[in-house]
Amino acid sequence: MRIAIIGAGVAGLTTAKVLLQAGHDVLVYDRTPDVGGVWSETRRYPGVTTQSSKAQYSLSDFPMPKDYPEWPTGAQIQAYFAAYAAEFGVDEVLRLGTEVTSAARTSDGRWTVLTRDGAEVFDRLVVANGVFCEPLVPAYPGVEEFTAAGGELLAGTEFHDAEEARGKHVLVVGYGKSACDVAVPISKVAASTDVIARQLLWKVPRRIAGVLNFKMLLLTRMGEALFRYIRLRGFEKFLHGPGNGVRRSMLNSVGSVSVRQFGLAKLGLVPKGHMEDIVRGAIGLATEGFFEGVEDGAIAVRRDQVITRLLEKEGKPWAELADGTVLPAELVVCATGFTQGVPFLDPDVQERLFDERGNFLLYRQIRPIGVPGLYFNGYNSSFFSPLNAEMAAVWIAADVAGIVELPDDAAMRRAVVEQLEFMDDATDRHHCRGTKIIPFSMHNVDEVLGDLDLDIKARVRASHWLNPIDPAAYRGVTPALVARLASAEPRSEAVPQAPTVEDARPRDIAG
Ligand SMILES: Cc1cc2nc3c(=O)[nH]c(=O)nc-3n(C[C@H](O)[C@H](O)[C@H](O)COP(=O)(O)OP(=O)(O)OC[C@H]3O[C@@H](n4cnc5c(N)ncnc54)[C@H](O)[C@@H]3O)c2cc1C
Repeated sequence: MRIAIIGAGVAGLTTAKVLLQAGHDVLVYDRTPDVGGVWSETRRYPGVTTQSSKAQYSLSDFPMPKDYPEWPTGAQIQAYFAAYAAEFGVDEVLRLGTEVTSAARTSDGRWTVLTRDGAEVFDRLVVANGVFCEPLVPAYPGVEEFTAAGGELLAGTEFHDAEEARGKHVLVVGYGKSACDVAVPISKVAASTDVIARQLLWKVPRRIAGVLNFKMLLLTRMGEALFRYIRLRGFEKFLHGPGNGVRRSMLNSVGSVSVRQFGLAKLGLVPKGHMEDIVRGAIGLATEGFFEGVEDGAIAVRRDQVITRLLEKEGKPWAELADGTVLPAELVVCATGFTQGVPFLDPDVQERLFDERGNFLLYRQIRPIGVPGLYFNGYNSSFFSPLNAEMAAVWIAADVAGIVELPDDAAMRRAVVEQLEFMDDATDRHHCRGTKIIPFSMHNVDEVLGDLDLDIKARVRASHWLNPIDPAAYRGVTPALVARLASAEPRSEAVPQAPTVEDARPRDIAG
């Protein structure tokens, strides 16, 4: 089949690689001039690194270079994804610097994709346009007079060089990983650096008590099981039953360590609530040097504050906070999150995509209901986003071949609505319109592979209970699917017919 993919971040790249291996004719569009999506040179802010450790942020069949540090920089990750694209021939099917302006269904169920180069028709469409790609900058009142007075308002992803902050009074808005990351290099050159934090979040030390890599605690199946999932299995039943006390103290002890390790009480930066609340926002991995910067006065955190307006005073740019404080603000960098949307999709398609609250209705985070031929990837943002995207790509390849046994539309809708209701509660609605699955990353992998009868060996899965999840353990999944597709009935028509499930019995996958 001829398949278009919108986006050359990791989700688009891995989808392209799997679909190429499944024998399809693929074209990948990206509006940026390089691959890597959020790690593109056009979006990197100084100080950006992964939160996940490098092995956990790897694709299954393409390890990161040995000389990369445990938390690689944005530039290193971009280079890694570019090398992945080259290794698997994806670089030959890329259309970079090419924005998709519209994607519409044709009357015969195919897709017309429009770019500045004209329209092209495809049998299937995969949307991998990123859920943390479009920055959300608050619409502050007074921005015009502020800008006229020389003030600059930027999204974190538009701030590429710390030198732009040299000698300036800078406000960084937000308290997530990006805000803290960007505040550190700014504080080294700026006249002042104030972090405006609406709500303090718990931050996990990279090395708990200075020794234990956080991945040993939170990037394991045990770490995931500390949070109650919609359905409990095996040991989870114990953890959320008789073992509940142990579970809570395990989780909250990380909070106590964090308070001690960073001296948060002295700094006045102990967040409200328990460490368990970490699930309600992003995983707040602490930025190296952030609390040290607060301690030595280079960074001031204005806790429980927001900017209420930007203004001009005596010809200079300023910002006013909710408590009435007015701060000099020559540069305001907003690390205030992202918007999720698909503006290029036809209104009639968009109508079917969302619930009444604007959440994406995607079965397994992949397939919209009632829109044949359309898939999403990367709408399963997790602690192991490359692995989740790769497994979703395998699911897409299987569904394109018609070998996924799906419930009917009504049952799929019920399952998606139930999952969203659960996530509303579990994450206090911080699931980015249904596109972020943290902290249930591996449950999603298990469900996706469960649909395909293609899981890794139970023994290997079990080893991930106490050791960090190793994406490399999943390297046999794509070859197993490709072998299964190859052994299915040969197809006589241009549009492949679905092999029966009997054609597609599970294969043993090397763990
Ligand atoms: C700063 C930062 C740090 C992160 N750290 C981690 C981490 O440590 N661990 C983790 O698991 N996840 C992390 N994430 C989550 C991250 O989003 C995923 O890891 C992953 O990179 C997302 O890949 P993606 O391909 O889904 O989307 P993206 O990387 O956002 O790529 C989407 C691509 O689609 C393109 N595009 C969009 N619209 C169009 C259009 N109309 N036409 C053409 N092209 C289009 C964009 O240009 C972009 O290149 C981080 C995210 C951010 C922002």
